[in-house]
Amino acid sequence: MNDFNKKNVSRIVILGAGESGVGAAVLAKKQGFDTFVSDISEIKKSHKDILGKYGILYEEKRHSEEQILNADRIIKSPGISNKISIIEKMKERNIPIISEIEFAGYYTKAKTICITGSNGKTTTATLIYYILKYAGFDVALVGNVGKSLAMQVAEKDCNYYVIELSSFQLDGMYHFKADIAVLLNITSDHLDCYEYEIQNYINSKMRIIQNQTKNDIFIYWSDDLVIAREIQKMKPTVTFYPFSEQKQVGVKAYTENGNIKVETANGMFSMPQKYLVLRGKHNLYNSLAATAVAKLLGVKDEMLEHSFLNFKAIEHRMEKVAHIKGVDYINDSKATNVNSCFYVLQSMRTPIILILGGVDKGNDYSEIEGLVREKCRALIFLGVDNSKLHDFFDGKVNVIYDVDSMKKAIQYAYKIAQEGDTVLLSPCCSSFDLFQNYEDRGKQFKKYVCNL
Ligand code: ADP
Repeated sequence: MNDFNKKNVSRIVILGAGESGVGAAVLAKKQGFDTFVSDISEIKKSHKDILGKYGILYEEKRHSEEQILNADRIIKSPGISNKISIIEKMKERNIPIISEIEFAGYYTKAKTICITGSNGKTTTATLIYYILKYAGFDVALVGNVGKSLAMQVAEKDCNYYVIELSSFQLDGMYHFKADIAVLLNITSDHLDCYEYEIQNYINSKMRIIQNQTKNDIFIYWSDDLVIAREIQKMKPTVTFYPFSEQKQVGVKAYTENGNIKVETANGMFSMPQKYLVLRGKHNLYNSLAATAVAKLLGVKDEMLEHSFLNFKAIEHRMEKVAHIKGVDYINDSKATNVNSCFYVLQSMRTPIILILGGVDKGNDYSEIEGLVREKCRALIFLGVDNSKLHDFFDGKVNVIYDVDSMKKAIQYAYKIAQEGDTVLLSPCCSSFDLFQNYEDRGKQFKKYVCNL
């Protein structure tokens, strides 16, 4: 039972003053709680301004025990590790720790469409939002991808929310329920944060359906072996809505004879697959999931078709940057794990010069070995420590360069690229060794390509 009420909770402390923490703080303050924000780093000026505007007290560059350990609830931002000492102390004192999404969920009655998976979350969530918005829904895109849900609820609650959820956000969710849950895939990622046990990570992802009942819908990719195994373990307490590339028994969304097909209450929706502007198998899966959501919510066929025809690729996801001397340059900086790189390599038809590397997350490169051997003319390792990449790829690809800056990566790529090649940034790794984040990495790629 949820014991979150004014009798049990008076002081809320928010750890982390990023987008989600500031949103949680504003909602908590507006709801009349004694609210305090603590951030171990310097807080952004724009965020300080918001806290100031609402009269919310905060500290920065420290987590002081006297301010934090007297909380009745902690709202922890998803990026903060569970291993830091202040969290250990909260646990010793049994102070419940929840996520911003969990907290915001107590204050909205909106229908929630929650998207998770190892890859494709942002693309799918953005696509669903785009379709619903065009169809006239009162909807906001929140969570990992955009605005904080708590901030949106505090400012102007909507009737529908499309919520992108990372495993870290799901970890802090206990009573929250998705009306429609979408699970795109589960492949190895963030293992460094899950004691290198894939099952811990899988369990986090499966929390997307916690609290769902028969009236709620669970859309999932049934070709994913990990998901299929988890489904077998489950009691069927939710309405399953599996999607697959091929028509199969029980599958409700699939492709057939060049058409996307989705079962609806009023019959079958069908749309030519060529309407999908987003390319690659992975985007077909994302589009099947989005179509299922849209049809389950009653979006009209012509609205859906219009949305698919007009949706544009999102920055840093298979983003075509330039075509120089017969060579395509593609920014897929958001490919921060091996599986996402796999799908991009699979969708390419030309010889590739692949730029990869960064902070390893327990990667297993054997997943892309076949595609790399078949399609890559050269590899450019871009990272502070490229030893794991060398251990795996040396002897398997003839041309390998080591670089420690994007500028050098692009210079090498330009030097060796031949007409008809593609230079692809799809790093398989986090970016924090050389860049601020994946956006910075992608922007630097674009800058140096455009300077060629
Ligand atoms: P996420 O938000 O889960 O990180 P994105 O939509 O931002 O996912 O896409 C990140 C990268 O993952 C893309 O650049 C693309 O390479 C790859 N990708 C997108 N959708 C899928 C999918 N369904 N399966 C595997 N890889 C995908």
